[in-house]
Amino acid sequence: MCEALRTAARAVVPVACPGCGLEDVRWCEACAAPWWDPPWRCEEEASRLVVAGESALPVWAIAALDGPAHGAVVAWKDGGRRDLDAGLAAAMTRAAREIAPALATLPAPIAVVPAPARPASTRRRGTDLPLLLARAATRGLAQAGVASRVTPVLAIRSGESRGASAAARWRESRAAVYAVGTIAPGAAVVLVDDVVTTGATLAACARALADRGSHAVAGLVLAAARRVADPARTGLR
Ligand SMILES: [Zn+2]
Repeated sequence: MCEALRTAARAVVPVACPGCGLEDVRWCEACAAPWWDPPWRCEEEASRLVVAGESALPVWAIAALDGPAHGAVVAWKDGGRRDLDAGLAAAMTRAAREIAPALATLPAPIAVVPAPARPASTRRRGTDLPLLLARAATRGLAQAGVASRVTPVLAIRSGESRGASAAARWRESRAAVYAVGTIAPGAAVVLVDDVVTTGATLAACARALADRGSHAVAGLVLAAARRVADPARTGLR
């Protein structure tokens, strides 16, 4: 592309790497690289990931929510970067394929339940991000020979909590997540969400499912915050 066209294109649709800000690059190789690392167990990082007062839900994350990965998640969630959908979905598919052996002994099909997105968030973003990730995870499990089904049975009462303190968000999430459908009796549930910070949302999801007699056995997320003194500093739920 000649320089004039490039300049014109940038003026209309400026594009930059969400990780490092490099211009004219959708996602530079260095910033995309962490999304292809092996998934890691992150539940110990999430202070609220204790279900029914005992063992933490095992949760796998692909990336740590810092540095370029944090930039990509923020751009994807709140920056309108729908062009990152395919790459992050592919990362989720690959991660699900890699953790599939740990789920292979569960009764099939596994119910892959996306964390509920607030309707206002879905409208603003133009897509339901946890649902997109749940579909991607199901594809990965299938590639590994583990049968699963996307089962979007959780909802969240509307009312934005952006800007609220972490403690306020936690109290709200406990009350706000509820089940709108049922899961086949005895089915194992894998929860899928975009990020984990305190783990309050995943814990609320597990409780809402338990109220309906379903058992969350694992979680899978794009990114998890390393435990910090103030989880609110990530600016993400
Ligand atoms: Zn970059």
